[in-house]
Amino acid sequence: MAEVKIRLPDRSYSIWIEPGLLTQVGTYVRQVAPHDLAALIGDESVADSHAEQAAVSLKSAGFHVSRAAIASGEEQKNLATVRRLYDVLCAANHERRSPVVAVGGGVTGDAAGFVAATYLRGVPFVQCPTTLLAMVDASVGGKVGVNIPQGKNLIGAFHQPVAVLIDTDTLATLPPRELRCGLAECVKHAMIRDPDLMTWIESHVEAILERDSTTLVELVRRNVTIKAAVVMEDEREAGVRAHLNFGHTFAHAVEAVHHYCSENGYRHGEAVALGMMAATHLSQHLGWIDRDVVDRLERLLERIGLPASAGDLHAARPELMAAMLLDKKVRDAKITLVLLKGIGKVAMSSDISADAIERAWDAVTKS
Ligand code: NAD
Repeated sequence: MAEVKIRLPDRSYSIWIEPGLLTQVGTYVRQVAPHDLAALIGDESVADSHAEQAAVSLKSAGFHVSRAAIASGEEQKNLATVRRLYDVLCAANHERRSPVVAVGGGVTGDAAGFVAATYLRGVPFVQCPTTLLAMVDASVGGKVGVNIPQGKNLIGAFHQPVAVLIDTDTLATLPPRELRCGLAECVKHAMIRDPDLMTWIESHVEAILERDSTTLVELVRRNVTIKAAVVMEDEREAGVRAHLNFGHTFAHAVEAVHHYCSENGYRHGEAVALGMMAATHLSQHLGWIDRDVVDRLERLLERIGLPASAGDLHAARPELMAAMLLDKKVRDAKITLVLLKGIGKVAMSSDISADAIERAWDAVTKS
């Protein structure tokens, strides 16, 4: 069993990674949250499969389980969902020691986590991520929250889980597009922090896409290790954690232009792929990296099946620029961007001209 530990000043926890782990959820939750009531909040699309497995395991470990489902889709990550979940916890007489267990992707984890952070000023929270993106990114590090019409993740909290239980077998049912989206975050980790991971992903793309079990465990372990290290260095995003936003300021603009509606637009991971390309083009325009890095990223994204350019967004460049200025990371109308000085070498800058940003959008949206 692979274990990655997160050690923080006031809380430490383990991230366990193993195929089939959902069948042992009850035993693990028992160790970290001994109270007998548990709320299981599951993504509706895995309610009868992975969430059911977790429910059986929790019950056999002696928990009384109250269940709630969150329908699939980013648009469900909102305050109405949170309100409904509070009702479920109240109806079950959920107490401050009773754990909330989330089974699903980042939408479920973020919304359930926000409920756990705020119900009774905070209850124990266990993440059981079932998408690659949630395994390698969203479930680790304690950022929880929901969207409001004004922007994505504008309402939120830091609420570290008491455990993260990653059953890589759950990836067997994940649609291929979602698997590719999760890989975008893995490529991001490699680009900002780990040239060896970049080479490893390049040589394992096929095995990953074929969902080879051993390869998936190693992919998740390597990426969780990176995310954990970043979170331990900077839990509250005062410094190095902001590096994880590589590509994301551009990506959020792409998502905002589509009003967070992934049905007819780009999924988060696809927007991140485009955002990483924009940030990498920009780094090259500034003379900070060679063209080779841009080409290498483009080749890898294409092999994975992620977009490296988006001609359909060419006409939307004014809206993309406007959306970037609304991003949470904008201070005093200056956009702070995470850029590169090489693979694994990040450079932050708040001093990039609008013209240079326009050129980056040009490079990515050319048809
Ligand atoms: P998601 O939760 O919407 O899941 C993607 C799709 O896969 C959904 O349709 C879901 O129903 C389905 N699904 C989930 N698991 C499945 C499985 N095993 N088999 C079949 N279908 C399955 O999206 P996501 O990509 O997991 O997460 C994106 C969200 O995560 C965004 O809201 C983003 O803001 C958030 N996020 C949060 C953090 C953080 O630090 N908290 C970091 C990155 C992203």
